[in-house]
Amino acid sequence: MRVAVFSNNGEASQRVALALRSGIVARGITIDGLNPEVVITVGGDGTLLSAFHHYSDLLDKVRFVGIHTGHLGFYTDWRDYEVNELIDSLVHDNGQSVSYPLLDIQVNYADGMGQPDHALALNESTLKKVSGTMVANVYIKDEFFESFRGDGLCISTPTGSTAYNKSIGGAILNPQFNAIQMSEISSINNRVFRTLGSPLIIASNEWIRIEPANTVNNILMCDQLMVEGRPVESIIYRVAKQRISFAAYRHTHFWKRVEDSFIGRDDA
Ligand code: NAP
Ligand code: MN
Repeated sequence: MRVAVFSNNGEASQRVALALRSGIVARGITIDGLNPEVVITVGGDGTLLSAFHHYSDLLDKVRFVGIHTGHLGFYTDWRDYEVNELIDSLVHDNGQSVSYPLLDIQVNYADGMGQPDHALALNESTLKKVSGTMVANVYIKDEFFESFRGDGLCISTPTGSTAYNKSIGGAILNPQFNAIQMSEISSINNRVFRTLGSPLIIASNEWIRIEPANTVNNILMCDQLMVEGRPVESIIYRVAKQRISFAAYRHTHFWKRVEDSFIGRDDA
């Protein structure tokens, strides 16, 4: 087996990563950062997001495992002190995995040059305006749906539904649903301007097209990354064909994880 260890720069994470690497080598497993079969991230959910983008060309070959050195994460269910247990699981690995949906982002540019860009997001993509009100037309399956005015729009995956989406009142979506969700960031609603005003979830055979009224001064985010530069004519969002796989050495029930992260109990 070939394993990559992907760590954030924090002191605790670096220490765990060092112990992990030497433990892995001692058990006869190969460290391979270029062509790994398993990617172990050490840090937080943000670290796993970075690793996902780093290895996004290898999604059909790679399984991820997340160790958290801070609080419990949605993509990171191993504790830093469980390194030896994790190495045991790697040694006894039989390919067990669980996979989750991703967001496909197609960006069409207003300058008419070249092909549209494609990107994948693990959490979400947001479209916002640098300053002033963002105005955009929203189409579902090419049918006009609404004209949006407000701070922005967020399209999230089921596993991303607990991130930005949750902060703006989106629903938490079990990742067993192969679907994506659109939620509004502070929409303007009055007698003149009207949007749906609640999150909506589309199926895997549907798509959402957003056409910003201004082709410049918008910020298009793909997880924690900004899509740079050119004037955007429209963005098409759909459930991606690719999925992300995790090594399922053990399984935390999704709703248990939601409860642990957001509600919690002193006795738990
Ligand atoms: P960050 O500022 O550290 O992320 C904000 C928080 O979101 C962190 O506590 C992070 O956990 C957590 N998080 C990330 N993915 C999550 C998930 N799928 N479910 C639940 N919580 C999650 O920045 P970052 O670590 O680079 O993460 C980027 C993400 O931040 C974006 O994809 C977006 O979802 C989120 N974000 C949220 C807001 C908001 O809520 N207003 C605004 C901008 C961005 P860790 O501490 O474990 O990294
Ligand atoms: Mn973070």
